[in-house]
Amino acid sequence: MRLFDLHCDTAGECYNQKIPLNLNDLHIDLRKGECLDKWQQFFAVWIPDSFRGKAALDYFERVLLNLKNEISQNNDKIQLYQGFSALKEEHKTGECKAFLAVEGGSPFAFDAGARLAKEYNVKLITLTWNAENELGFGCQSGSDAGLKPAGKSLLRDMRDLKIAADVSHLNRAGFYDAVSSGAAVIASHSNCESVLIKTRKDSEDKFFACRRSLNDEQIKLLIECRGLIGINFCRSFLGDYGDDGFEAIYRHMAHILDLGGENVLAIGSDFDGCEINPCLAGVDKMPDLAAFLSSKGMQEELIDKIFFKNADNFFKNILQQ
Ligand SMILES: [Zn+2]
Repeated sequence: MRLFDLHCDTAGECYNQKIPLNLNDLHIDLRKGECLDKWQQFFAVWIPDSFRGKAALDYFERVLLNLKNEISQNNDKIQLYQGFSALKEEHKTGECKAFLAVEGGSPFAFDAGARLAKEYNVKLITLTWNAENELGFGCQSGSDAGLKPAGKSLLRDMRDLKIAADVSHLNRAGFYDAVSSGAAVIASHSNCESVLIKTRKDSEDKFFACRRSLNDEQIKLLIECRGLIGINFCRSFLGDYGDDGFEAIYRHMAHILDLGGENVLAIGSDFDGCEINPCLAGVDKMPDLAAFLSSKGMQEELIDKIFFKNADNFFKNILQQ
């Protein structure tokens, strides 16, 4: 099977825990990916909300340097995506094409920030994490304000430089500003608020899980602007309390499909960034999830769109222009 996963936090975990990318106990290592026929993976460098400005850029550079070292030591199994032509090359089974993202746009929140991001080969910027930063307000910031001038200006440059904008973690007002900016917009790892409301039992973090999720109007807007919605495997964002990890994912996927999202639905696992049901907890579990979706009556073609083709089309389109 083919996988194009829009979000994982593995790069930061390898850096902070000083563990190798090739073989480890994380959700992602290169050995686990050997079961995939074709594998394209976004590696996000997560910027903690405690880092801003120069400290954020320094941290980004340290994590990236470590990731690049890991990649160069395993070059037979993984390469950093360099350009569109590389995507057309034949893929060896189990080989990973790594795409670079930054989660929290602080490192690039200055005038020439988008240009620097481009130099670093960043293809996707998640504008905020949960709190406020220089660009705007995250879903936990407590603010209903839209993007700041620096956020709007960065989006204009991202649009011109073909870097996609990620609205996962943003507050609602920031979401609408991003969608109307003209930049290519996705929600790399976000689920459906309405499914969560229906299925969640009472819980203290329900409010947060809902704010981290997309309401139906947002989902419809992402469909309209031909974005992507990557389903997040995080237990509390799925509303998964039992052994129903696969069922919970199916509920969110079915809802997006009901709203007309066949061409935007994708995977944004959040591997190595959250608590995940053991049945889903690893890139090597993806064939089991695909088999489950098939058993629910999803056609192979649709399954391939969700796991790979929608995301591949999106990034080929924006990177080619
Ligand atoms: Zn995240």
